[in-house]
Amino acid sequence: MADLTFKYGTMKSGKTLDLIRVARSYREQGKIVMILTSDKDTRSGIDKVVSRVGVTAEAISISDDLNILGLIGRKHNPDIILIDEAQFLSTEQVRMLSEYVASKTGRNIPVICYGLKNDFKNELFEGAAALLAYADNLVEIESTCQKCNRKATMTLRFNNGLPIRFGDQVHIGDSEYVPVCKEHYASII
Ligand SMILES: [Zn+2]
Repeated sequence: MADLTFKYGTMKSGKTLDLIRVARSYREQGKIVMILTSDKDTRSGIDKVVSRVGVTAEAISISDDLNILGLIGRKHNPDIILIDEAQFLSTEQVRMLSEYVASKTGRNIPVICYGLKNDFKNELFEGAAALLAYADNLVEIESTCQKCNRKATMTLRFNNGLPIRFGDQVHIGDSEYVPVCKEHYASII
């Protein structure tokens, strides 16, 4: 049986870079890699994933109501499935992936999901909550607080330089997201 893995970290922790590193490693061995990302994150254009250091890879953008197993079935036998921005997956999609890695078709195909765990209000994203419940492996990608050198576990959202703690969970664009430790999360808001 293959594994469903959730690699989670704050903003700017290098999740996408790790995804691209894994993809390259598989491709160097002549293996087929399927990369998916969310159509909610359009910062770097659709149909690709872009790390903050500028490394990119082609990806298929999916919506949270897509039948993810139908999509995988239409592609040609990937050796691994990598999913970026997995916090935007629906609970149903995560449940499907969990069944997939245990199924006859998916038993040799690992699925690695990369995403945020908690939002700027420190509440779990739907996809993250489902992955915490369903994933076979949980891996934290660590990063440091932007205000000190302790581990960052939370994310602050700034609009026009001011921290905010209300508003929609998904708001991509003019906000700046800053990874912080719990102390700085509490002290700034
Ligand atoms: Zn700090």
